[in-house]
Amino acid sequence: MVLDPATLTVAFILLSCVLGTLLIFSWTLSRRLSAQAWWGAAFWLIAIGIGWANLGEKPPGYWVLLLANALGILSYGALYVGCRVFNERPGILLHGGAGVAIWVCAFPFIHDSQGYRLILTSALTAAYSALCAWELMRHPLQTLASQRVAVVLLSGLAVFNLFRGMLGVSLTSVPWIDTFARRWSSEMALFLVVIGPTLAFMFLSMAKERLKFEYKQAALVDDLTGIPNRRAFLQTASRLLNRLNGRPASCLLFDLDNFKAINDRYGHAVGDRILSVFARTIADNLPKETFGRLGGEEFAAILPVGAQDAAALAERIRHAFSEAGRAALGKAEEVTVSIGCATIHKATPEDLLRHADRALYRAKENGRNVVVVA
Ligand code: GH3
Ligand code: MG
Ligand code: MG
Repeated sequence: MVLDPATLTVAFILLSCVLGTLLIFSWTLSRRLSAQAWWGAAFWLIAIGIGWANLGEKPPGYWVLLLANALGILSYGALYVGCRVFNERPGILLHGGAGVAIWVCAFPFIHDSQGYRLILTSALTAAYSALCAWELMRHPLQTLASQRVAVVLLSGLAVFNLFRGMLGVSLTSVPWIDTFARRWSSEMALFLVVIGPTLAFMFLSMAKERLKFEYKQAALVDDLTGIPNRRAFLQTASRLLNRLNGRPASCLLFDLDNFKAINDRYGHAVGDRILSVFARTIADNLPKETFGRLGGEEFAAILPVGAQDAAALAERIRHAFSEAGRAALGKAEEVTVSIGCATIHKATPEDLLRHADRALYRAKENGRNVVVVA
């Protein structure tokens, strides 16, 4: 089978335009992840660059070679900027424009050597592909499965470009190498026709995964303190109790003492800080996914332990918070928490919370800053 380079060129250009448009369209739907716009622009730039160099005058003249290759390199720059933007890291002009600047400066000296042009464009595009892979691998905001696949694809693209560049050194030695290393060949077109859509699909998947992660965060994580909110807490508590098969579980219900007075005296912002300090205190003292903020200045934990262990944990948290609160407000001031504990066999989270609430009520009656076991 003979693959016609011109046909593949047209297929690649059209494909890149469609993929670029899809990425930009996906960006316009929420305007949340501008990385998609950068990646979409990258696909358009490569389509224009390759189309201009290959479908125009033959052989291409000085300006066509300069500008068409500049667009190709800029396309890789946009790809890299997209990866940085996706990871919420700065750098647009310098990171995206460095490659094209090097190309424009070097071009007058190498314009009449196909070998040198090939080496430079390949080195720049290989470097950008490697930087994209590095960026996505080293600085992910959270673990996304599709981001890992994108790292593999971009590494493959880097190796491919590097390989082409190395062939530039041995140009005119072996016929098939020459064919492959020419500015455009059916092998290269075929490779790009395969990797282009796969990469675009991964970029779209990354965006989808990121948005899903953010919506999940918003639905399950308390904004102020960063710990699970009431909904997330009740869900995980319910799962834990189902797993216990009738073994005892304990609930600790926390309510900060005289919190209204703290707000009144120090202002709402300080009140917010104290809430975060308390959240950090329970996070430091309890296993992950056992606690949450129920709302206001009330927090709870449900643990697979008996009454004695629960009371001991509660005492530890009460002490730790008293110290952390004093450190936050200044030595003279005290901020404390009252804690109600309840232990039941075969309970629902609601049963446990109800019993713990009664104990908490008694703790408040007993003068606050105490642990009361139901
Ligand atoms: P008690 O010891 O009886 O629990 O007294 P309290 O003042 O802590 O209880 P009360 O229920 O009267 O007041 C709770 C206060 O918590 C009132 C509300 O303004 C404050 N609060 C609730 N949510 C937040 C918040 O997100 N940030 C801040 N800064 N304050 C909050
Ligand atoms: Mg309260
Ligand atoms: Mg309170």
